[in-house]
Amino acid sequence: MQFLIFAKTSNYHVDKNHAQIKFCYNYVYLSMKIPIMLKLFKSWSLHILFPRACFCCGRDMARKDANPLCPECMADLKPIDGLICKRCGQPLKDGGRYCYSCRKSRNFKCGFIRSGLKFTPSARALIHNFKYQGYINISKFFAPLMHKTFRNNPEFFEADFLVPVPIHKSKFKKRGFNQAALLARDLSKLCGVPVLEALERKIKTKSQTSLGGKERLENVRRVFECANKAFVKNKAVILIDDVCTTCATLEECARVLKKSGAREVLAITALKE
Ligand SMILES: [Zn+2]
Ligand SMILES: [Zn+2]
Repeated sequence: MQFLIFAKTSNYHVDKNHAQIKFCYNYVYLSMKIPIMLKLFKSWSLHILFPRACFCCGRDMARKDANPLCPECMADLKPIDGLICKRCGQPLKDGGRYCYSCRKSRNFKCGFIRSGLKFTPSARALIHNFKYQGYINISKFFAPLMHKTFRNNPEFFEADFLVPVPIHKSKFKKRGFNQAALLARDLSKLCGVPVLEALERKIKTKSQTSLGGKERLENVRRVFECANKAFVKNKAVILIDDVCTTCATLEECARVLKKSGAREVLAITALKE
């Protein structure tokens, strides 16, 4: 639709093929696409009515800033580079191939874990707002970072499915979404690997946050079940989760998937704590 508006004469012309508004006044000719105008109007009015604040420090954000954090807090987001554990991706201070906890056991079901960012205060604030405050669009911020992790590691290229770590039905009812499933959905759009919700969490567990390494593994033991055994048979899958701390949840999910016939289980998480 095209409108030609002459302010002095009030003549206007509508052209159905072009979504443009053209405005003429005293030989000043202005052209603007309707969707862009609407977008700008929405952005301005939303900013005036609901000014956006940084998810970490709470400072007011510039209207044009599309990031969820202010520039100072954005600078606190740190990718994982340099020396890392060959299995879990944990940064290593003194070199070597494996971190302390991966060195103890070599018989891992989830043999390759990589994460988008380190668990810095800004990254933690984002995950907290995403999971507990319901800002589900934060998933779209993490997905490209996880995609970069995917692209940087050829180990992921042969994967058949992305499998989100499930949450219990009761938690899903309360929260309204599974953060790992949203991350898997948005990552899938970028890397092209389809999502398969192959796992179910049958038992409600305590939060892992207050538990140590061994307790975490015990806490998640036998809580998952494979709901799509026929689909995972002989397949390589990438587990998707928000945070990897001791890898206990990923390891238990991988055990169940391998028992159900999966050929290989790898994992990508948004953050590595
Ligand atoms: Zn900030
Ligand atoms: Zn490790």
